Amino acid sequence: MKADIVTIFPDFFRGPLDYGITRRAAELGLVKIEVHDLREFTHDRHRTVDDRPFGGGEGMVLKPEPIFDCLNPLGLTAREQRLAGTAKESVILLSAQGEPFTQQVAAQLARLDRLVLICGRYEGVDERVAEFLADRELSIGDYVLSGGELAAAVVVEAVTRLLPGALGNEASARQESFTAQSGGEFIGNASTCASSGLLDYPHYTRPADFRGMPVPEVLINGNHQEIRRWRRERALEKTLRNRPDLIEGVALSDEDKRILERIRRFNLSS
Ligand code: SAH
Repeated sequence: MKADIVTIFPDFFRGPLDYGITRRAAELGLVKIEVHDLREFTHDRHRTVDDRPFGGGEGMVLKPEPIFDCLNPLGLTAREQRLAGTAKESVILLSAQGEPFTQQVAAQLARLDRLVLICGRYEGVDERVAEFLADRELSIGDYVLSGGELAAAVVVEAVTRLLPGALGNEASARQESFTAQSGGEFIGNASTCASSGLLDYPHYTRPADFRGMPVPEVLINGNHQEIRRWRRERALEKTLRNRPDLIEGVALSDEDKRILERIRRFNLSS
């Protein structure tokens, strides 16, 4: 996959994408990230990328021209074809007003060959970029950042780790939080359980007793069936506590329903 990032702060990306799985994926040639400095596409002495908003109001707005000019030489397929889904390319404007960036969207994007990520700054980006240049606007959460750079890094990292070969162990991506699993497919080893859209179950490592805080006994006894059930219970419990909104979208087994019922009863009585 090729990812092009359009920004007024190209140096920003020296750090965040140069570690761990993203770095390894780049070294393996699974992803190639190219950062484009928007100022190189300006035509005035001051290399102006922003201007005052029409209609008045606070702050400055990123001008459309450098952004259109930056994308022009990238050799992208026409927007109509991208929108029709005939090109494996997507031009994305990072925006607080965008549709939520979720694990599902990350999985969608991971199937493409090319991503272009446009980072806004100041009060935002001239709306013609969203209307005529970008295919979609994505938001990484319901809060306002000062720029799209962190958001673009989030998107690149979440997508890159889903590229085939990026993780050492493919099963681990499929049993993580938010990952909907279809048809109860069996993955991993006998003691793990697929997230199926729930939050991940808790993980522990050595020592078994850390300063008087023991690892749950069940994880040490070697009974895979029991471990699996325990993990599913904890995943259901944590999802119910921290993200009850997710439960609705999960295909619950009869056993899941019984577990949830038990957790709810326990919570009511305590
Ligand atoms: N005036 C805008 C915020 C502009 S913040 C508003 O109220 O919606 C400046 C830039 O930061 C945006 O253009 C966008 O690129 C980026 N940004 C801010 N919050 C973001 C979010 N939650 N997700 C993705 N990008 C965001």
